[in-house]
Amino acid sequence: MKLELDISPLKNWAVNYSKPLLIAGPCSAESEVQIISTAKQIAAFYPNSIFRAGIWKPRTRPNTFEGIGDIGLNWMKQVKKETGLLTATEVANAEHVEKCLKHGIDILWIGARTTVNPFSVQEIADVLKGVDIPVFVKNPIYPDLQLWAGALERINNAGIKKIGAIHRGFHSYDNGPFRNSPRWEMAIELKTACPELPVINDPSHIGGTPELIPYLAQKAMDLDMDGLMIETHINPKSAWSDAKQQVTPAELKEIIDDLSIRSASVASIELQSKLDELRSVIHKLDNDLLEVLAKRMAVSKQIGEYKRDNNITILQAAHWKKLIDSSVLNGNQLGLPQEFLKGLYHLIHDESIRRQTDVMNKKDNKTSL
Ligand code: PEP
Ligand code: MN
Repeated sequence: MKLELDISPLKNWAVNYSKPLLIAGPCSAESEVQIISTAKQIAAFYPNSIFRAGIWKPRTRPNTFEGIGDIGLNWMKQVKKETGLLTATEVANAEHVEKCLKHGIDILWIGARTTVNPFSVQEIADVLKGVDIPVFVKNPIYPDLQLWAGALERINNAGIKKIGAIHRGFHSYDNGPFRNSPRWEMAIELKTACPELPVINDPSHIGGTPELIPYLAQKAMDLDMDGLMIETHINPKSAWSDAKQQVTPAELKEIIDDLSIRSASVASIELQSKLDELRSVIHKLDNDLLEVLAKRMAVSKQIGEYKRDNNITILQAAHWKKLIDSSVLNGNQLGLPQEFLKGLYHLIHDESIRRQTDVMNKKDNKTSL
């Protein structure tokens, strides 16, 4: 894919930028106290971060919290005054942009539900003409790289050079353990088409649960993404939107402290020992392996449900023998020894059977990955 953008590098637009560029704050602004207390705790350990809070929330279903609206913009101003953090929010139309500019919001982002609509993106681009403000574009809900690139082009054509992408995962019918399938290759392809484009990962919307955030954030750093957007709430359980995925400021600090930031610059790779380099390749491959295994187990569970609903036994010995023979043969052709493959497949099979037994024996099955 070809993507030519006129970009001002990140180091020229975020004061004191150091990797990772951190965008943190609640999914939604709920009250002045809530955002100021969250922002103060974040600023205490990451003063270079950007404070995020949704003011207008495009929700998939009506009758859920649709954002606090204009009053939240005054609270954001107060956050900036009291903490010195830059502020960012989501815009979905020209009116949102105008209000943000009027209230001194520092950074804007276009949400996944807006990126899918070129009319909305163009409307936002038109009102940004002649304005100098950084804009991030989240990937569209569904995995269409052209749509993501097109939105970036529209904003860039309006003269916005401080432009970046946010990778927040894609809706798919096979999300594995994630809320939104990461489809890392989409972000990699975008970055490959335009290497100077800053790409921020949003592990909160990909993971959908705090437990997956450290893993996703590390993977994003290993793929040399520039930053992270992590939903952070003073009291996640009581959040008015995305309560299941937000972390506390203390948890955020732990996630950031535990990250290993590896440099991708040629000079430092040359300095790194060969062993380190190979270990990081193994680390990436292991993560891929785990994602594939998690997906495989999810399919096993579906098979279990099908067998339960159709009264079929879990173990079908003939089928299992055929499967293992063909996998051993295939693996063997790839240079893997037979004994290793048999051992590996027995482990996988045992876990599949365990999951299917679980499905069979629980009426209200809530086994998750
Ligand atoms: C958000 O950042 O709270 C949000 C609504 O995200 P997305 O557009 O990625 O769904
Ligand atoms: Mn959210």
